[in-house]
Amino acid sequence: MDKVSIVKCESYGKEKVFLAVKQALSLIGFRMPKSGAKILLKPNLLGAFPLENAVTTHPAVVEACCRIFKGYKLYVGDSCGAGERKGTENAFKESGIAAVAKKYNATFINIDAEKKITIENKKNKVLKKLVTAAPVLNMDFIVNLPKIKTHMLTGYTGAMKNMFGIMPGRSKTGAHAIGRKIEQFNQIVVDIYNAVTPNLNIMDGIVGMDGNGPSNGNPKHTGIIAASVNGAAMDAVITQAIGFKKGDVGTVEVARKRKLFDNIQVFGLKDFRCNYKKPHTYKSKLTGIVFSRINRLISPRFVADKKKCIKCGYCIRACPMNCIKFVNGYPKFDSKNCISCYCCEEVCPEHAVSRQLPLFAKLFDMLRGRD
Ligand code: SF4
Ligand code: SF4
Repeated sequence: MDKVSIVKCESYGKEKVFLAVKQALSLIGFRMPKSGAKILLKPNLLGAFPLENAVTTHPAVVEACCRIFKGYKLYVGDSCGAGERKGTENAFKESGIAAVAKKYNATFINIDAEKKITIENKKNKVLKKLVTAAPVLNMDFIVNLPKIKTHMLTGYTGAMKNMFGIMPGRSKTGAHAIGRKIEQFNQIVVDIYNAVTPNLNIMDGIVGMDGNGPSNGNPKHTGIIAASVNGAAMDAVITQAIGFKKGDVGTVEVARKRKLFDNIQVFGLKDFRCNYKKPHTYKSKLTGIVFSRINRLISPRFVADKKKCIKCGYCIRACPMNCIKFVNGYPKFDSKNCISCYCCEEVCPEHAVSRQLPLFAKLFDMLRGRD
């Protein structure tokens, strides 16, 4: 049986979050790791976005974990969306997590700056080999700290997708290049989760993000903390709680087919529901079938807003298809090779990248009841 707990937590007051995390752990009957264990806390450090944008895991959730696991050897680590050493460092500071790590003497693991190591997992379906930072494999226990967010490419990003961040730099863009088709990419997300499976997952669902997540959506007050030893089971429960129908989130379906969860039991707020606005790109199972037939006609074209662009080049380096380059000082997008992975939009610190939908796509959206 896979246990998932959901408990109420209305705000990021430190004590409230601490008590909520403790309650969520107690509801799933969580047992502490052996004493002296090296514990990695893996938040979502997508980029250096202001805290109020609700892109990154809130520092109060990281702090609650530091308190719960006090006495262990604590580490906090991630690789930002752009997969760059400086970008990850900036995200660590801007998120407020650096200050928490300092307070609790937790060592920062900048996955983009560490020695790389290739791991093999023959059971994986698409990504049989993947790269991570050596210290990740040195850990005795990994606590995954995702945030509830919608995602333009995968519909939803949660526990399984958060483990994408154990891959440094260009290996992340490489995974996008291999998983050009969304079906393949969903398999890759689960492959990575399979290769480095966290021992515990604690979801920051106090303020999530809906709409065009994971960085361009709207903060969504949700008021919960969730916990599970099984990240795939947690994603299955949370996606339904935020309004996805069974079968609509590809990563969860891949995990279901691979039997990564079974007989889920929910504790605490069993019937919790909070309807999240779906990303503009969201396709239900049914519309996804139609979409795949007319994809070329409705694929967006990407542009950079020159007024907002600070010429950092993150979008260029994050593009798995090398279809962005600086022209006259600003990024220019070659739509011919674009696979609509949304990495450029996701990593842009200034929200300067936007999509222009062809007329046919706008009509299609109207027919689906979206603006
Ligand atoms: S569009 Fe965004 S990510 Fe790309 S160079 Fe400009 S500011 Fe940087
Ligand atoms: S242009 Fe943007 S959406 Fe297209 S492949 Fe490159 S990063 Fe992905």
